[in-house]
This record gives sequence, structure tokens and C-alpha cells, in this order.
Amino acid sequence: MALIVQKYGGTSVATVAHLDNVARKIIATREKGHDVVVVVSAMGHETDRLDDLARQVGVTPETLREVDVLLSTGEQVTTALLSMVLVNQGCRARSYTGGQVKILTDSSHTKARILDIECERLQAGLDSGVVAIVAGFQGVDEQGRITTLGRGGSDTTAVALAAALGADECQIYTDVDGVYTTDPRVVDSARCLERLTFEEMLELASLGSGVLHTRAVEFASKYKVPIRVLSSFNDSKGTLITSEDDSGMEQPIISGIAFTRDEAKLTVMGVKDIPGIASKILGPISDANIEVDMIVQNVAADMSTDFTFTVSRNDYDQALLVLKNVATQIDAREISGDNKIAKVSLVGVGMRSHAGVATKMFRTLASESINIQMISTSEIKISVVIDEKYLELAVRALHAAFELE
Ligand code: ASP
Ligand code: MG
Repeated sequence: MALIVQKYGGTSVATVAHLDNVARKIIATREKGHDVVVVVSAMGHETDRLDDLARQVGVTPETLREVDVLLSTGEQVTTALLSMVLVNQGCRARSYTGGQVKILTDSSHTKARILDIECERLQAGLDSGVVAIVAGFQGVDEQGRITTLGRGGSDTTAVALAAALGADECQIYTDVDGVYTTDPRVVDSARCLERLTFEEMLELASLGSGVLHTRAVEFASKYKVPIRVLSSFNDSKGTLITSEDDSGMEQPIISGIAFTRDEAKLTVMGVKDIPGIASKILGPISDANIEVDMIVQNVAADMSTDFTFTVSRNDYDQALLVLKNVATQIDAREISGDNKIAKVSLVGVGMRSHAGVATKMFRTLASESINIQMISTSEIKISVVIDEKYLELAVRALHAAFELE
């Protein structure tokens, strides 16, 4: 007998009919003899609707507290209805708000962080044979005020509860079968992965295969809570995400290919190769709150070099403006930019112990006549920047070359 935390996202609880389906899964888990704690999201797009209402009234720093009171109602509705469905089917169940459990957070309204979880009440419920249905995405601060954890925060609630209760597995039910080798909309033969490590998931998530809230993965990694991402619409086993030591088998060299189209590249040409130049260029960029991703600076033969970096495409125009100023100050020759680029990344912990992954990647791109504009590497990731129009071709070619089908 195990303790399982199950989280059902908005699409899995979109209507009352969906709740029947969820109840069936919960009851099936109970019948296997497991204790179950369920974390739910708001139904469908309810949080968007509530958010929109708040905006119509006017959101200011003074009203953020009340925004949390409003947003948290979405999850509370689901806990009540799902508990009712379960009870009507003869399964003992009880709803809990974040405050009732007591999920203690700091007071940063609309983006609060969990500080502590009191498990006594939940545990007492479980011990008496009740399925606990907990509202995701919400907590309560020291003053007893309702807080929310930021959009997508129910994943974090689930993982945090699993960690606090010492659960055996945290199952995240969603509308996809699990984590794929790459986006199936780009590569038909993309495959649902059986296993993945936390580190790989973090790389794949931050690069755009947004099935899991990043903070939830960080949390799971820190407390070593195994996560399983799976569909609430079928009975497939999904993707199990664990720490590398727990995965207990030889790692594939590449687990997945992530990509993003929303990047832009800026180059400052003819800058002096002297100490302090990088900070003179990037300082004003970060002062403008623009996040920089990749950075490349050449070695200079003649004391003059080019400095290239990438930013999110949304920040491109502003970054260009900032750079124009900087260029005059540091006496650079010219600046140029390109917002039609894309980044493709190979991710896999197996890379650590295998040489030649980069070579194979570059050879594959070359054989498709795709020019690589920038390269960056980490222990478990190799990323390249290419012309956006070759993105799909590149992803397909790499997916085939690394035999991810
Ligand atoms: N309902 C919240 C949202 O839509 C939290 C969640 O579902 O994770 O962002
Ligand atoms: Mg979500």
C-alpha cells in the first residue's frame, strides 16, 4: 500500500462529466489499496475568467490581496464538486482549502511561495480512510490571508504536498500522454518517454515543452519526489521523472529535442577587446529588465571583436534601442540584429559520458545545408541557433539521426 498524490489540471476537470472520469481514476487507485490525496485545478479556463473580472475592476498593489481571494475560488469549486461526486459514488472524500490543510506561504500575493505544510489534519483524514481533495494553487500567509502561487501553481501544490507527506509518487494528470521526445506537431514520430530525470525535465520545460510548472520540477528535484506525468483521458503509463540515481538504468544519450522560435539575436560589431566591455554592453540590457540567453564573443586578433547575444523576441526592439545608445558610448562600429532565428537543443544526461554528440549534431545539420549561427553547451545540453525557416527541418533531421522515434 502506497500514498499517491494525484493532481488533475484544468482540462481534466473542465466539466461535471469530466469529474466522473476523474472519480473513476481515484476510486480505482483506492481499490488497489492506496491512500490518495488529490490536488485539483480550477475547471477549464475558470482562472482566466476570474483574472479577467479582476482586471475589469482594476488591479493595483493595494488590491492584489483581494485578487487572491477571487482567484482561489476557482479551485475551491472543483474540490467541492469532486468530493460530492465521490461521495455520491460511495467513496468517502473531503475537500480542503489551502488554509484548511494549512499550506503556509509568504505574503507575496499572486506569486506566493510555500514556506511550510502542516500535515496533521490531512493525515488524520487519510488515517480514517478518507480521500482528501485539496485546492491547488492556494495557501494562506501568517496573517491568515489567502494567497495564490502564480499561474500554473497547482503542480507545485501537488509536489509540495507529496514531499511533505512522504508520498510514493506524485501523479500529474493532464491532457497529453506524457513528455515527448519532441513536439509531436513538428515530428509525427515523436515518442512519449517512459522515464526522464529532473534535470532533463527542467531543460525540456524551460525550452518550451510546457507540461509541468518549472517550480514544481525544482521542488520535486530538491525533495526527490518521483513525478509521473500522464493523461486523464486514457490509461497509458505516462512519463516517470526521477533523480538520476533512482532511474536505475543506463541513460539514453539524448532524451529529447527542445526548440523555441521566440528568440532574437543582436550583435555589436567592432568593439574593443578590453576588460569591462561585456559588462558595458550587457549592464544596460539587464537594467532594462531584458533577460539574455546565449552569449558569444570572439577572440580578437586585432584588438577589435564582435559581441553577440540572444534575447526573447518580445524584447528585441527594446534591446536594439538600448544597444544603439551603448554603441555610441563604447565607440563600437555597428550593431545588427535578427529576429527570425530559432534555437534547437538536444537534451540528455547520457551526454555526460558520451563524446561525439555535438559532432553528430553539427554533421546532421550540415547534411541538410543548415547554417549554425551560434552554439552553446552545458553538461546535458547542446543548443544551436539557426535561421527560423529551417527549424522544422532541423528538428526532424536530428530526431531521426539520434534515433528518437
Ligand atoms: N488554476 C490555476 C491556473 O490556471 C492554477 C493551475 O491550474 O495550476 O493557473
Ligand atoms: Mg498547468
